[in-house]
Amino acid sequence: MRGNKYNVIIIGSGLAAFATAARLCELGIRGVAIYAKSYGATPYVAAINFVLPENKYGDTPERYFEDMMRAGYEINNERLVKEMTANTLRGYELLRRWDIEFAKEKDGSIKLRHLSGHTNPRSLCCTTELIGAQIIRKMVKKLDNNGVEFHFGCECVKVLTENGRVYGITVKEDDGSLYNVYSPTIVAAWGGAGNLFGKSTYPPDVKGNTLAIAWEAGAKLVDIEFLEYEPMVVISPKGAVGEPCPTAMLGEGAYLLNSEGERFMLKVRPQGEAGSPKTLINREIWKQVENGKGSPHGGVFVDLRHISPEVLKTYPWFYNRLMENGVDPNRELIEVGPMAHSFSGGIYVNEDYESTIEGFYAVGEACGGVHGACRCAGNAASQATLSGLLCAESIAKKNNETALREFPVDYSEDRSIFEKYVPQVRELAVNVLGIYRKGMDLERALGILTELSDKNEVKKDTETHQIVVSILLMVRAALLRKESRGTHMRIDYPDMKEEFAKEIII
Ligand SMILES: Cc1cc2nc3c(=O)[nH]c(=O)nc-3n(C[C@H](O)[C@H](O)[C@H](O)COP(=O)(O)OP(=O)(O)OC[C@H]3O[C@@H](n4cnc5c(N)ncnc54)[C@H](O)[C@@H]3O)c2cc1C
Repeated sequence: MRGNKYNVIIIGSGLAAFATAARLCELGIRGVAIYAKSYGATPYVAAINFVLPENKYGDTPERYFEDMMRAGYEINNERLVKEMTANTLRGYELLRRWDIEFAKEKDGSIKLRHLSGHTNPRSLCCTTELIGAQIIRKMVKKLDNNGVEFHFGCECVKVLTENGRVYGITVKEDDGSLYNVYSPTIVAAWGGAGNLFGKSTYPPDVKGNTLAIAWEAGAKLVDIEFLEYEPMVVISPKGAVGEPCPTAMLGEGAYLLNSEGERFMLKVRPQGEAGSPKTLINREIWKQVENGKGSPHGGVFVDLRHISPEVLKTYPWFYNRLMENGVDPNRELIEVGPMAHSFSGGIYVNEDYESTIEGFYAVGEACGGVHGACRCAGNAASQATLSGLLCAESIAKKNNETALREFPVDYSEDRSIFEKYVPQVRELAVNVLGIYRKGMDLERALGILTELSDKNEVKKDTETHQIVVSILLMVRAALLRKESRGTHMRIDYPDMKEEFAKEIII
C-alpha cells in the first residue's frame, strides 16, 4: 500500500479503466490510482468498432446509432447511445494518441471487418495479436509513465458511501490484508457478471459479486436481466473449448451448418449470415439442437474450409488454438455453440457516467443502459473506450472537493460458507436465468435467494453473501421483464403484448 488518499480511484484495469485514466492524464488530473485484481476480459478483445471519416462504406455515426438501437431491441438508453456514437471518432483518436495501432489494408486504409449486428464493416482489429493484448502492453506502461499508480492483486470488496455520496473503497489484497482507501471520486471499471454462471468465457478475476457491491452502496442497477451469449464458441475439441470463433468470420464468408448439412440461417436471413445479430444466431442454433439437428456436443458446425489460410491466419489466436488442438479449419468443420459471454446491464448512470451516488461513476461493462437487451459485436470495447473518455471529461469538469471521512473495515471471511452455498446458488442461476425463463421458476428462486440472503450463516462470508445478492437482483429483474426480449424467452408469456418496461431499474 502506497498512500490512502487519492483524487480519483479507478476500480479495474481493463480497457474502460485505461480510457478513463488516459483522458484524465490528458486533462491534467493527477493523483489517480488503479486498484484491480488483474486485466479482466480486455486481453481477449479482438474487435473494436469506430466510424471513421471517409470510409468506403459511407458509414455514419447515425447509421451506427440505428444499428445499436436495433441490436438492443430499442430499449437502450437513447441519450447514452447518441453520445457514444456521436463521439465515436474521438474514441479512435484517444487510442491512437496512446499508441494503439490498427491493421491496415494494402492501400494504407484501416482494415474494417464486418461483425454481427452491424449494417456494414466498421470493426477495427490487429491481425498479428489480439488488439486487447496490444492495448494492455502499451497503455499500462504509458499510464505508469504518466504517474498513474497501479495496485494489482487488489480486490474492491466494498464501496464506502454515506448519505448518497461516495468516500472510498475497502480493498482486499491477494495476501488477505484488508484496508480502506479514500477518494471523493470512485470509478467502477470492474467489468461484467458472467462468472455468476458456472460455465462462461469470462476470466476468473471478473467475479460478478460487484452487482451486489454497487447495490449495497446505494447505486441503482439497470438492464441486469440481460446476460449475453456469444453464439459461436468452440465446444470441441477439449483443448479449444471456450475459444470464441469471431463473428467476423461470417463476414469473411463462413457459414453455419446443422448435422444434416443445411445452412439453416438462410431460412431466417436470406441475405446471408454476415452481420446477423447475435440473438438471432443464438436462437437458430438452439432450435437446431432442440430439433435433433445439433452436433455431437450440443451445438452446430461452422464451415471455414473454403476460406483461404491467409485470411484465417489474420485471426492468429483462433487459428493457432485450433491447430494446436489438432483441428485444421481448412479441412474440418468446427463444433460451436452459444456460451455466456458478457453482460448488457450494470450500474445505472447519467450522461456523465455518474451513478445515483454522488462521486461514484461507472464505465465499460460495469455500467448499463448503452446496449439495451443485446450489444452489437465489438461494441463492448468501443463502449469501454467511449464511456471512459466521456466519464473522465465529466470528472475533470466537476469540482469533487469533499471533506473526506474515514470508515471502519467491515468484511468477514469463512471459506466453508463459500463452499457450502456458492456452488448451489450458481447452479440455481444457470437453471432459472438461462435462455428460457419461466415466472414460476423465477419466483421459486427469488424465495430461496431471499431466505439465503437473510441468513446469518451466509453473512459470515461477505463474498458468498454478495454472490447470493447479485443473483437475487438478476432474478428480480428477470421476473419484472415479462416479455421475451433479446436472447431471453419468457415461456410462460409467449404472446405477451402488454406495454413493457423500457428500462428495468432496481
Ligand atoms: C473471450 C472474450 C472475448 C471477447 N472479445 C471481444 C471483442 O472482440 N470485442 C468486444 O468489443 N468485446 C469483447 N469481449 C467483451 C469485452 O472483453 C469486455 O466487455 C471488455 O473487456 C470490458 O472492458 P472493461 O474494462 O469494462 O472490463 P474488463 O476488461 O473485464 O476489466 C475488468 C477489470 O476489473 C477488475 N475487477 C473485477 N472485479 C474487481 C473487484 N471487485 N475489485 C478490483 N478489480 C476488479 C478486473 O481484474 C479487470 O481489471 C470479449 C470477452 C471475452 C470474455
